[in-house]
Amino acid sequence: MIQVVGHTNPDSDSICSALVAAEWLKVARGVEAVAMAQGEVTSETAFILNEAGVEAPQICNSVAGEKVWLVDYTDLSQAPAGIEEAEIVGIVDHHRLGDITTANPLEAWIWPVGCSCTILYHLHKMENIEIARPQAVLMLGAIVSDTVAFRSPTCTEKDREAAKALAEIAGLDLEDFSDRLLRVKTNLEGLSVASLVDRDLKKYPFEDQSLVVGQIEIASFEQVNDKLEALQAELAVRCETDGLKLAALMVTNISNSTTRLLFQGEWAARLEAHASEANVVVMENTLSRKKQGWPWLQAVLAV
Ligand code: MG
Ligand code: MG
Ligand code: MG
Repeated sequence: MIQVVGHTNPDSDSICSALVAAEWLKVARGVEAVAMAQGEVTSETAFILNEAGVEAPQICNSVAGEKVWLVDYTDLSQAPAGIEEAEIVGIVDHHRLGDITTANPLEAWIWPVGCSCTILYHLHKMENIEIARPQAVLMLGAIVSDTVAFRSPTCTEKDREAAKALAEIAGLDLEDFSDRLLRVKTNLEGLSVASLVDRDLKKYPFEDQSLVVGQIEIASFEQVNDKLEALQAELAVRCETDGLKLAALMVTNISNSTTRLLFQGEWAARLEAHASEANVVVMENTLSRKKQGWPWLQAVLAV
């Protein structure tokens, strides 16, 4: 049995890609496969699963001794426990190549597109495999989420083509579905300050020191105005307890593509020249951490 598993702090793409890839492996490769997740699903992913009529994957504790496919990452730091004793037989991903290595040849599909599910859609198409409605909804949901409804600079023509075709199969109006999904994505009600920081937190090694950059997506800055102080305090706590040089959080308003980057830590001084107020950099036309936030931070921190 092959385990198909997405990254830590699972987002919609890592859950939906695991579910779709497991089904695809059964049909296209004739092998037994099961989707796994490294954690509970977010409310956004629950919305997609509900629309698709599909259950959330089982939680993965260790993959030691298992055959695995990785979806939506190739970094060891984002892999499940036991990965060193697992056999990685396949990868579907749309990030820069990470530090995973394998003992045997593998099947790897890594494309510079906006979403791992876009690659899965095109694999179905290339291999003439019919897509059932549940799989179409899963892939569509992941693409709308990862590309922020096609607004992110990570979005490509292949993502748009996939979404259009998948909406048709799913019998969904693309605009209406995207609006509903973004409303769930940007709803922060009931989430604690700590869970907002953790929601989509990634660790980056830089100058041999670890730093973290999280991201939350909102529809209006009014949603977070009364939380900014508490978020800054939480970032400062992370630096203290996890020995980080910098803890940053991209607060991204998807309605006007403006990000407020909050930051704390010893390296905060390197960013101050760009700050409009203490510990906040305003970044216009910025939606993507992968293509915009992190490259900018890397360049400024290097000075
Ligand atoms: Mg992801
Ligand atoms: Mg993704
Ligand atoms: Mg993401």
